[in-house]
Amino acid sequence: MAQKDYYEILGVSRDATEKEIKSAYRQLAMKYHPDRTDDPDAEEKFKEISEAYAVLSDPEKRRQYDMLGRAGLGDINWEDLIRNINFDDIFEGMGGIFSHLFRGRGVRVVRGRDVQYNIEMTLEQAYRGLDTTINIPVYEKCDECNGTGAAGESSQEVCGACNGRGQMIREHATPMGKVVAASTCNVCGGRGYIIVTPCMKCNGIGRVSRTRSVDVKIPAGVDSGYGVKLRGMGEMVDAPGGCVAEPGDLYIVVKVRDHEIFQRDGENLYCNVPVIFTTAILGGDISIPLVNGGEKVFNIPPYTQSGTTFRLKGFGMPVAGSNDFGDLYITIDITIPMKMTPKQLEMIQALDTELNPRSCDDDEIAFEEIEKDMLLGGDNHG
Ligand SMILES: [Zn+2]
Ligand SMILES: [Zn+2]
Repeated sequence: MAQKDYYEILGVSRDATEKEIKSAYRQLAMKYHPDRTDDPDAEEKFKEISEAYAVLSDPEKRRQYDMLGRAGLGDINWEDLIRNINFDDIFEGMGGIFSHLFRGRGVRVVRGRDVQYNIEMTLEQAYRGLDTTINIPVYEKCDECNGTGAAGESSQEVCGACNGRGQMIREHATPMGKVVAASTCNVCGGRGYIIVTPCMKCNGIGRVSRTRSVDVKIPAGVDSGYGVKLRGMGEMVDAPGGCVAEPGDLYIVVKVRDHEIFQRDGENLYCNVPVIFTTAILGGDISIPLVNGGEKVFNIPPYTQSGTTFRLKGFGMPVAGSNDFGDLYITIDITIPMKMTPKQLEMIQALDTELNPRSCDDDEIAFEEIEKDMLLGGDNHG
């Protein structure tokens, strides 16, 4: 998928000044701020313009982008980019409206954890598609304390160890020079404040566990590894401090169990069909099992050999996202009875005599003699 050009996203020309870029972003950000519009795509749009702004407002990044496009920016993610945007500067004091989207000193996006749920289904379910409700345990922000973990605003104090930053900055002298390392404050656990009186509902954790029921629609034709991403259905809370800008996503990953009759390769199915030897010789109708639970009568020609494969067009799996179906390949497995009646054996004997003239009485004696000779010969060699 082609990615849109950052200049296009902001609606500015390639030689736009920093001021023009900032102004364009301000207007778009006000328009697409997820709290200010009902547009379901607003959040995505807001991220897009913010990413474009973060790059074009940074002279070095802009230069790299102009030369090489997004490839020139290397591996950077949205969070890293947004961290460098100074919203208070752009919105002239109105940056506060973004405070629940971006939190922390500087601007840091806190996003809830993504949750993965594996769903196992039979081949028959994969054939029909599956509408189901899954129950997943998720953590959500405690609504009693709004995720702070404190019983009220007066029951929290700024952490003295980190001065409310939540991080400890340490300088180390190394042969290469001074290295500054940041680590989570172990006094406040990164919250930046100390809880004096914990919230009764969440015991000061800031989050509560609950089971969320999610309706899931798995389309017909899926195979193992198929994933559905449900945006915003993941966890609402993540790090200590609990306040989350956006919930994580829920990933549903499908595993289709092996089937006792059918093997699957993409949209095609394969199975072995036992056919009694008389039908294989004479030809005739055989019954083929179908994955939809039904059966299909199929006529095999006379003298069908064991291992012969036939294709039943359109009797395979549905192709996800289309009206097409794969094919069913059946391989003939010729069988003989485990037991026959005396009358049936007589008929087989007659047939055998017909097919193999040596099996008359005289030949039978001759055969025994040969067998004895062979045994003797075997002894001599042994
Ligand atoms: Zn609470
Ligand atoms: Zn602290």
